[in-house]
Amino acid sequence: MSAPRSLKDWQELDAAHFLHPFSDTKKIAGQGTRLITGAEGIYLHDAAGGKLLDGMSGLWCVAVGYGRRELAEVAARQMNQLPYYNSFFQCTTEPAIALAAKLAELTPPQFHHVFFTGSGSESIDTMIRLVRRYWQLEGQPQRQVIIGRWNGYHGSTIAGASLGGMQWMHEQGLTPMPGFAHIQQPYAFEFAAGRSAEEFGLAAARELEQKILEIGPENVAAFVGEPIQGAGGVIIPPDSYWPEIQRIVDQYGILLVSDEVICGFGRTGRWFGCEYYGTRPDIMTMAKGLSSGYLPIGGVMVGDRVANALIQKGGEFAHGFTYSAHPVCCAVALANLAIIEREGLVDHARDVAGPYLQRRWATLADHPLVGEVRGVSMLGALELVKSKQPRTWFDPRGKVGERCRDNAIRNGLVMRATRDTMIIAPPLIITTDQIDELVDKARRTLDQTLLELRRDGWL
Ligand SMILES: *Cc1c(COP(=O)(O)O)cnc(C)c1O
Repeated sequence: MSAPRSLKDWQELDAAHFLHPFSDTKKIAGQGTRLITGAEGIYLHDAAGGKLLDGMSGLWCVAVGYGRRELAEVAARQMNQLPYYNSFFQCTTEPAIALAAKLAELTPPQFHHVFFTGSGSESIDTMIRLVRRYWQLEGQPQRQVIIGRWNGYHGSTIAGASLGGMQWMHEQGLTPMPGFAHIQQPYAFEFAAGRSAEEFGLAAARELEQKILEIGPENVAAFVGEPIQGAGGVIIPPDSYWPEIQRIVDQYGILLVSDEVICGFGRTGRWFGCEYYGTRPDIMTMAKGLSSGYLPIGGVMVGDRVANALIQKGGEFAHGFTYSAHPVCCAVALANLAIIEREGLVDHARDVAGPYLQRRWATLADHPLVGEVRGVSMLGALELVKSKQPRTWFDPRGKVGERCRDNAIRNGLVMRATRDTMIIAPPLIITTDQIDELVDKARRTLDQTLLELRRDGWL
């Protein structure tokens, strides 16, 4: 047993040795990190004795909530039976087969095959390899360019960040790799500029057609998008957007890829975000909700169009990871999906929690700081503005969001800030009483933030 340490000791060791992802190491060393020690249901416990309502499901992943003993027991059983074997070179394991078959059943009808990975980023890299391999097998190897969107998020590997449109990532020495192009995001609040949401949605989608024509249709391999952009700020496209994207990919014969890492497994009140919008993707990338974050696992659903080319035209697909189809991760993912089905969590999101959350969340629109409230089912966003009429953003952008997030945590609520957009994505198990608690805490947080901004001369 290690000697008991105080919170301060842990924080000092953390600052001395641990480089955190997507964090300003210098800043967290000054402020001290929040040490999370346990969790149950939708609540987190920290070492300072705080209890937080986790409005973000960890990082958009803990769909079934924390503390599911059943998942721990499945993991222990599988570890005792077979802790690891790979799926290279004609080998396989039972949990991997069972999970693949279950995913084929749960996903839209064009999907019968899955390639397993260890994360969302690996799923994106795998998808890129598959898309290029597909066009090679189709005798059109010059079709290399994959089109994504500015401010889209597709993970943090070099290929994922190149496909993603996070310019602040590109600026850190990561000029996108060749073979990727970007179009404008369907972010009406920021870019509609007087047009109706529907008109703007069509215009944003038609940028895809312009880009295809600019690159030459014979060189374009695929279009990739999140049904709803998550990390970019819960950006919900106008209803006109996805049907027009589908028309364009069909017209030019390019592959459509739905990045379902956040939207998959019930977040939109449907099993997959593409079902919410009625698109027919050729490929879906997945992770996060697949295991509710209990163990790291991702996957790529490969639709019949691409799978048939791989299977019929043959040849080894020279790609894979040591931990692809890890049997313990597969067993836990399968048990997680069983919980989602048994407890009816997708229907709960569609019929109960989602509508209630949206109704309650919308009441925040009257707050002086809130320029827009938006959401779909178990996703929500608030745009913080300096003034609603005429619309003025805070300058510089992002500082007010950060303050609001810190106030939320002081109020016992985890919300995330992206620029000055506050976002939530609570566990699918959240009850209506807990939604009341979430929204009350969010309102209190907005009130406190408003007072602070007045006190400090922001308003
Ligand atoms: C989180 C995320 C990824 C990357 O997943 P990791 O498991 O963090 O590598 C990819 N795409 C989307 C849409 C995501 O939200």
